[in-house]
Amino acid sequence: MLTNRYSVNEKGHLTLGGADTVELASRFGTPLYVFDEDDIRGNCRSFREAFEKNYSLPCKVYYASKAFSCKEMYRLVDSEGLCADVVSGGELYTALAAGFPAEKIGFHGNNKTPDELAFALDSGVGRIIVDNIYELYTLNDLAGEKGKKPSVLFRIKPGIDCHTHEYIQTGQIDCKFGFALENGEAMEAVKIASAMDNISLVGIHCHIGSQIFETQPFIDAADIMVKLATDIRDTFGITLKEINFGGGYGIKYTEKDIPTEKDTDIKILCENVKLACERYDFPLPSLSIEPGRSILDASTLTLYKIGVVKTIKDIRTYVSVDGGMADNPRYALYGAEYEAVVANKADKPRDFTATIAGKCCESGDLIQEHTKIQTPQVGDTLAVLATGAYNYSMASNYNRLPRPAAVMVSGGNPRVIIERETYEDIIKKDI
Ligand SMILES: *Cc1c(COP(=O)(O)O)cnc(C)c1O
Repeated sequence: MLTNRYSVNEKGHLTLGGADTVELASRFGTPLYVFDEDDIRGNCRSFREAFEKNYSLPCKVYYASKAFSCKEMYRLVDSEGLCADVVSGGELYTALAAGFPAEKIGFHGNNKTPDELAFALDSGVGRIIVDNIYELYTLNDLAGEKGKKPSVLFRIKPGIDCHTHEYIQTGQIDCKFGFALENGEAMEAVKIASAMDNISLVGIHCHIGSQIFETQPFIDAADIMVKLATDIRDTFGITLKEINFGGGYGIKYTEKDIPTEKDTDIKILCENVKLACERYDFPLPSLSIEPGRSILDASTLTLYKIGVVKTIKDIRTYVSVDGGMADNPRYALYGAEYEAVVANKADKPRDFTATIAGKCCESGDLIQEHTKIQTPQVGDTLAVLATGAYNYSMASNYNRLPRPAAVMVSGGNPRVIIERETYEDIIKKDI
């Protein structure tokens, strides 16, 4: 199965990180998000150690917390020596509430409100990644009022397309995030910032996309970003000390996906930055990355109970589960692929073609269509694999469904890290 963290025990049950998923479902209820803590910690270490091995300056790994944001996740990545990237006041608030050190937080977003910028300044976040010229002026004014001088990176569109499900090396300018290179926008912004009293421009940032399996985009980004830093030095006499290359490292959602090793990705990035620095005669900058989904990786799943198996003759069989687009909107949004397993029959062949449907009042409320699972029956437990990233964080209360609980498994032992919402929670803000 997808990763070596999955197995099948003597009862024929699917296990993750040594925990029996059928037992997890009956003990904690369904739907249930399950995370493999040992694997997540291993992923944090792989990225961090790869930089230590391949680069002579200290580097930073920011966990892109939009992938899965909750207090325990911030504590976990903090204990592994990672930084965190947040993209909203809500994520920043969650991180701070978990005791995450503000100076290890990078604040992102293409439309940060003045309130969010003030919150970031007041809490002393380590880096603000400025997206556009309006933000730059607002931040400079706010920082002046507060007597602060934030360390800022500029988000650059490096001319490598930022569309999320396909890596395309064209159409670079058509992206809502960041300053463009080719029309001079980025250089103009540096000029403006260099004349500002309350902005300390320390680096540049790019994020070229998500679920990327090729190494070439990262090689291209290394060259483009070092060249930009060189142009900035030669034009304005400012030597930037930091380049952040964002996230985007792909994971194995299905057997078709072949991700590169984290170690290899980082080695290639480091080597190509070093080469570019030689090429342009630029001093080695400190590097950062922002992996999101690849920190959680494929060793995560959602457990559901099958409530209905509806076969429409000569058409298809709908297998309806007790969750759906409210806890995993990714298939409905953009056709994301997943593999599913009947957890209590994991030793049986997956030879049944099913369309997995949710319980929301939308025909498009599907988790996957025409996918292979074991022969399903009402009452079975269904596991949808690799749901750790962008599921809980995108979950809603559509149809007033309470959001599921989340458990972390370590050494085979589960513990609840997010409690299941109640009906009371759902009406809490209703007047
Ligand atoms: C979404 C995002 C990431 C993380 O992307 P993954 O594909 O989950 O690794 C990192 N940086 C920025 C700026 C992002 O928007």
